[in-house]
Amino acid sequence: MPPITETLDINHLFAISEVVSNTSDLKTALDGIARLTHRILLFDNLAVYLLDKSNSLNVTYAKAMGRGQKAGAESAWGEQLASLVAEQRKTLSQSPTTTSSPDRLKNPYLLGVPLMEGKHFLGVVVLIRFGGPPYVPQHIKLAEFIARQIVLLIARQSLAQERAAIEKQQIETQIKEDFISTISHELRTPLGFIKGYTTTLLRSDTEWDVATQKEFLQIIEQETDQLQELIENILDSARLQSGQMRMAFQPVRLDVLLKDAISRLHMSNLILDAELDIDVPPHPIEGDPSRLSQVFENILNNAAKYAPGAKVYISIRQNNGKTHIAIRDTGPGIPEDSLERIFERFFRIPDTVKGTHGTGLGLFICKQIIHAHHGEIKAESTIGKGTTFHITLPDSQAAE
Ligand code: ADP
Repeated sequence: MPPITETLDINHLFAISEVVSNTSDLKTALDGIARLTHRILLFDNLAVYLLDKSNSLNVTYAKAMGRGQKAGAESAWGEQLASLVAEQRKTLSQSPTTTSSPDRLKNPYLLGVPLMEGKHFLGVVVLIRFGGPPYVPQHIKLAEFIARQIVLLIARQSLAQERAAIEKQQIETQIKEDFISTISHELRTPLGFIKGYTTTLLRSDTEWDVATQKEFLQIIEQETDQLQELIENILDSARLQSGQMRMAFQPVRLDVLLKDAISRLHMSNLILDAELDIDVPPHPIEGDPSRLSQVFENILNNAAKYAPGAKVYISIRQNNGKTHIAIRDTGPGIPEDSLERIFERFFRIPDTVKGTHGTGLGLFICKQIIHAHHGEIKAESTIGKGTTFHITLPDSQAAE
């Protein structure tokens, strides 16, 4: 059956420009243009070749509209003409040298139009008709109109990419500025305490009784711990960014790591009412004990900080070569829109962090450590009821 033909009218041009104005994705817009024009231009295939960074033409889009041709496989038919158009920077058409073959697929009529943004050559759009008829001037004009629309689409797409890159850069700069102000605050606060209490203790005009001296020294110790933790976090974060954090895998018992983490928090005077619920004593898994302890301590530490006085439930379950650890607190919870963001570098929920120390690096580091174990970490929360951190780890690293 011959293709149904349509003649060009103003409505087609409106429809094409509407597709171009309303579609930001290049492929979707080209699909729309191909659909709207193939019955006028009578092409079987359409391909768009764009110049890449190394100045070679690459097929960016290929569409077969009929006669059983596969777009991808057939995009090679336009390459030769695309190169010629690229050289001459003008519209070129090619007819078959002989039309004696009864197979229309052997008689291709090609039309190539350069994509020019001013004097700037971007690529070529190539159309093919199997078995003719040859392109008439009105069709060539329409093809050139389409080429101009494609140029507009490409220009808009590269503007959008540039805008996205600028926005990304602005966000990164903002994050860096926030980081510097958070870090300087977090460094200055413990340093101020340490300096203040040391100077007080050393004053030659005052005698301090033993109890007071001990109280001051305890404050100095706590603030030094705070400072040490902060510095470790900053270093870990820098190591992660430069890909230098190596895991030392060995068999580890997660219940033992969790019990140790709880005891360490108790020793550092952090109030934590934690209950460990273990189904069956878990078998060892392959992991880096000190890094996994760091993850557990950070999550438990957060529970003590952001859900003070709340009970914490910890469970470990093993199934199908995976271990699932759930750490649930009964604290204030985390808003839905922050559940993923808490794992971002430097992110802290403004409402929950008042009066607490922190940099927003802890959970970011936890996530990287769990990923380095080929595991997953996520948070689930109900406001007013509490938060659960779920960690899933494969039992063996070799199996991953
Ligand atoms: P930091 O504690 O240094 O701020 P984290 O990366 O460990 O950084 O945590 C990021 C943020 O997630 C915290 O600032 C806090 O707002 C929120 N958060 C973490 N754990 C909890 C929790 N158990 N309950 C409520 N909010 C939490």
